Amino acid sequence: MHRFCRAAAILLLACLAAAAEPADWIIRARYVLTMNPQRRIIENGAVAIGGDSILAVGAAAEIANRYTAQHTLDRPDALIMPGMIDTHTHAAMSLFRAMADDKRLQDWLSNYIFPAESKNVNPDFVKWGTELACLEMSLAGITTYTDMYYFEDTVAAATKRAGLRGVLGQSVIGFPAPDYKTWKEAIAGAERYIRNYKSDPLIVPAVAPHAIYTTPDEALVAAHRLAIKYHVPLLIHLSETKKEVDDAVAKRHVTPPEALANLGVLDGRVVAAHCVWLNERDIQILKNHSTGVAHCPSSNMKLASGIAPVTAMLQEGLNVGLGNDGFAGGNDTADLMSEMNIAAKLQKVARMDPEVLPAEQVVEMATIRGARVLGLDKEIGSLEAGKRADLITLSLTPPNAIPIYNVYSQVAYASRAADVQDVFVNGRLIVSNRRMLTLNQQEIYAHIRAWQSRIEATLAQTAH
Ligand SMILES: [Zn+2]
Repeated sequence: MHRFCRAAAILLLACLAAAAEPADWIIRARYVLTMNPQRRIIENGAVAIGGDSILAVGAAAEIANRYTAQHTLDRPDALIMPGMIDTHTHAAMSLFRAMADDKRLQDWLSNYIFPAESKNVNPDFVKWGTELACLEMSLAGITTYTDMYYFEDTVAAATKRAGLRGVLGQSVIGFPAPDYKTWKEAIAGAERYIRNYKSDPLIVPAVAPHAIYTTPDEALVAAHRLAIKYHVPLLIHLSETKKEVDDAVAKRHVTPPEALANLGVLDGRVVAAHCVWLNERDIQILKNHSTGVAHCPSSNMKLASGIAPVTAMLQEGLNVGLGNDGFAGGNDTADLMSEMNIAAKLQKVARMDPEVLPAEQVVEMATIRGARVLGLDKEIGSLEAGKRADLITLSLTPPNAIPIYNVYSQVAYASRAADVQDVFVNGRLIVSNRRMLTLNQQEIYAHIRAWQSRIEATLAQTAH
């Protein structure tokens, strides 16, 4: 009897040793594009998720042996890649999509957007505009986005409802805005908002002075102080147009990056959107201050702002990510697959050199480099054990995905946002087989239609 008990105990221990570890999800696919430091691509690979994190990434057979999952997702005709990271946009402006186009930036801002915003933007506008944008971004495989707008606590609430990750900046601007009448009130509001969301698992609160030509120096300094106090990002438009640079040189005798540096407002917390008109010295200034850059090629093309010196910035080792700068005027959609494609081709034609900004590098910009721009590269941007489980599956069944010779080239040049099939953010499935699980599409569309009528009525008043 005693011997039997000992044998049973040994058998039990052996069984426990062989028992697979628990996981919430195992996702299998034809390829896993990890974007890890070795840039490993695994054929017939899998990702195991536990809670909000990636437990392991490896060959499908190895993951199957090691883990027992509550849910499995088999996508033999898809690739798994990190969720894409948008480093600059304005989500609620989806309500102004394709409303006033083919204008110069100053004309578009002063005569269309700022008046339309002053008459319409309130928390309800921001709520439904952001939900529409979150729906569009999720279906396009964007799992983290960076926002600059008004009523940012409402943006944060909508983003959480969608289940997306957001670096969301409360705007600070030098004239009466829809949410705060003065920049001092905006700074106080930004501080309250940052405190509310400081420990949120999905939201990184930020402060967002609009630009050096719209925000007084005192407000820029106050915004930066807030960023330091709470260790949060500072989001700003920088050197977007030639006019912005010419005006800064005329008024301040320095370029916009020099102006920020002189004010003590430039550091690694800053995410500078556009950076189209930089000279070599500006690039060195951004490099020396470890400032991240959000490159928005569609917006820069549509507003004829110019072509950002992305190749030179990357050669200098700057962190440059991609931004949609949506959803109105600058760009009208949330599609980082198309931004990758455009960014690569724009650099090639600007330099008359097809070797610059190759496919792998532009995929980096949409993933791990974008994470570095936002200071989130320890948590997101690649598929590695211990990181947050933000990942997408990309269908390889459409004709534009056949055949595949090079996975990076496929993603950068041939795949489309509509090929995104499933989306996980923080371990949660939010898009399943192209269906949004967290937001109610019919309800959003009904509110957007109602808002369109109101916006059209205010535009008619402006025209009279
Ligand atoms: Zn912008």
